[in-house]
Amino acid sequence: MEKVSEKASMDKVVALCKRRGFVFPGSEIYGGFANTWDYGPYGAQLKKNIRDFWWKTFVQGRNDIVGLDSSILMNPKVWEASGHITSFTDPLMDCKNCKERVRGDKLLEEKLGIEAVAGKSLKDIGEMIKEHKIKCPKCGKSDFTEARFFNLMFKTHQGVVEEKSSAVYLRPETAQGIFVNFKNVTQTSRKRVPFGIAQIGKAFRNEITPGNFTFRTREFEQMEIEYFISPKDKTDIKKKFDGWKEVCKKWYLDIGIKEKNMRFREHAKDELSHYSSMTFDIEYEFPFGWGELMGIAYRGDYDLTQHQKFSGKDLQYLDPLTNEKFVPHVIEPSFGLDRAVLITLLDAYEEDTVEGEPRTIMHFDPKIAPVKAAIFPLMKKPEISKVAEKIFNDLKEDFAIEYDDAGAIGKRYRRQDEIGTPFCITVDFDTLEDKKVTLRDRDTTKQERVEISKLAEVIKQKLV
Ligand code: ATP
Repeated sequence: MEKVSEKASMDKVVALCKRRGFVFPGSEIYGGFANTWDYGPYGAQLKKNIRDFWWKTFVQGRNDIVGLDSSILMNPKVWEASGHITSFTDPLMDCKNCKERVRGDKLLEEKLGIEAVAGKSLKDIGEMIKEHKIKCPKCGKSDFTEARFFNLMFKTHQGVVEEKSSAVYLRPETAQGIFVNFKNVTQTSRKRVPFGIAQIGKAFRNEITPGNFTFRTREFEQMEIEYFISPKDKTDIKKKFDGWKEVCKKWYLDIGIKEKNMRFREHAKDELSHYSSMTFDIEYEFPFGWGELMGIAYRGDYDLTQHQKFSGKDLQYLDPLTNEKFVPHVIEPSFGLDRAVLITLLDAYEEDTVEGEPRTIMHFDPKIAPVKAAIFPLMKKPEISKVAEKIFNDLKEDFAIEYDDAGAIGKRYRRQDEIGTPFCITVDFDTLEDKKVTLRDRDTTKQERVEISKLAEVIKQKLV
């Protein structure tokens, strides 16, 4: 086996996604719809496996976190209270020559680095764009309109009348659904602070510059935890925050992401969101440079206090042991599911040669691979097919598996390598005698004979 490529290019991964049914361009038969993507059969399964593994890690696997599934449409007062109506904005500029819409801060970041732009006002951004003669990414001219703030929330109308009072927003984050249910959850789940509420769901942002495949889209899925803690002990808060940084990083390692491709980045003070006093991002080295995978923010008591103020409801927590009442503080690990899927694809991609033949191979961690095993009857002979079909029917109870009896074995292996199937099982004439099959490992291409009766157990052990 000879390794050909160390790092995947975005173009190659996009092409593989289309060719093998991981991700398709959205609304393709209508000529597409810019920056929308649909997950195909393997992509949907991969995404589901990552989503399920997240839930298993943080909800099922912990006694101090419970799950939630709140609505996308919420009372518009939620967004007044959270600050999104006034503060959830990006600085927008238009190129006077070609009319391209750009984000002034992002153009500056690309040229000067993120720290140089953090916390700058609209006026500063406009002046810096001129001073550094930043060019329009589309036409190359350097002539922009004044920068102005653009709210990223998607606004629509509920019911049949389009008037001010019927305006509603598609949620730009899942977090607020958690805060507004804080009281309900504490009253029903019998969890005591410190504890967390987790939820997975769609979020929508009218991004000015979506792009880089599924990295930045206007509709995406988040996996968020609000972890409620006591505000009393500042050293404990720092300890818990650092603990969360490690737990989050470990989750990415567990889905198979290479450590060398990730890093932490702390937000500079003037870069912090309106609600946060400490934020770390986990970043990944994408083909286009380092980009955010997730944020871990210390939100203090900002959200619950705001919701208390706007709803008039008491959202304090009563500690049953000390009888103290307080508004809990919050540590928020906020993961992007689509970005997790994207880095899984990028990190797993490899080209190599096996016995002189080029192949593309996806080294997915077996537990998140969309297909766990493929069954190959060596030949289309009834006695072999019968055994292979029986194995397929038995294994499909426990695993996502495929049956493939078309073409040469080598070709069948290549097809499975390309979608990252960790195991291939071949039924041959010897099977009829010794009741064993050949189990081939995707990564090493090593083959071993395994008894049919032990197959499910052997595969299960390798999937942990
Ligand atoms: P960015 O700086 O990339 O715009 P952000 O800091 O606005 O991201 P957060 O508000 O912290 O993002 O959202 C948490 C997570 O949700 C991000 O780390 C990312 O994984 C995901 N996310 C946010 N916006 C998008 C988007 N437009 N497309 C895909 N995923 C997104």
